[in-house]
Amino acid sequence: MIIAERKPITEIWRLIESYRQILVVGCRGCVTVCLAGGAREVANLANLLHLAAREHGCSITILQHTVERQCEYEFVQPLAAYGQGDCSIEAVVSLGCGIGVQAVAECLPDIPVYPGLNTSFLGMPERSGRWVERCHACGQCILDKTGGICPIARCAKNLLNGPCGGSQHGQCEIGGGTDCAWQLIYDKLSRLNQLDRLKEIALPKDWSKDRDGGPRRLCREDWEEDNFTDEVRE
Ligand code: SF4
Ligand code: SF4
Repeated sequence: MIIAERKPITEIWRLIESYRQILVVGCRGCVTVCLAGGAREVANLANLLHLAAREHGCSITILQHTVERQCEYEFVQPLAAYGQGDCSIEAVVSLGCGIGVQAVAECLPDIPVYPGLNTSFLGMPERSGRWVERCHACGQCILDKTGGICPIARCAKNLLNGPCGGSQHGQCEIGGGTDCAWQLIYDKLSRLNQLDRLKEIALPKDWSKDRDGGPRRLCREDWEEDNFTDEVRE
């Protein structure tokens, strides 16, 4: 899932201090699970912004709305009502990930939409209150070659042929208790009796499928609207 954390309240306040009618939008997806942007965090942020406003000698009105998923049009579309008629909000703070912020901004083209979170990485909870990166979304998964452990997201040097010379007692040289990804890969392949795989030198990866090729698209032709026949719909 996408891991994010709330920006410092002083930073968010600076973004919206000139407005008096604010909408804070949460998301029940990933950012709820990582305790950054669900309904509870929306309420917390509203309280903190009220306190900040009081400290600065002004009062603000804050509306709260948490959608199922900010990253899908069908769920953010109802927010368009906030930009119409008597609903006079002046700015939006989105507690969605970066995708959610942009989707909300598309829905409300005439109202400034500000990010309340820093979107951090793709990961999972390691234990309560602690999340770790597991995937870099490289576009060409090689987990089949590495015992299901990602060297791109988990090795500090993104090595495709590791380990480097800095691995010590199973730990990465960056310290902080970080496991050496290539030690983990070695241990896993050893357990699977597949150590021979390490004799294959991994060739340079096709990075055109990674982020450096510009914004990526994934098209499933069998699901594209134009290709739907009555037969498929049935
Ligand atoms: S190899 Fe690529 S797609 Fe697979 S887990 Fe690692 S970063 Fe993600
Ligand atoms: S010590 Fe291991 S995880 Fe760290 S950079 Fe070297 S190979 Fe990668």
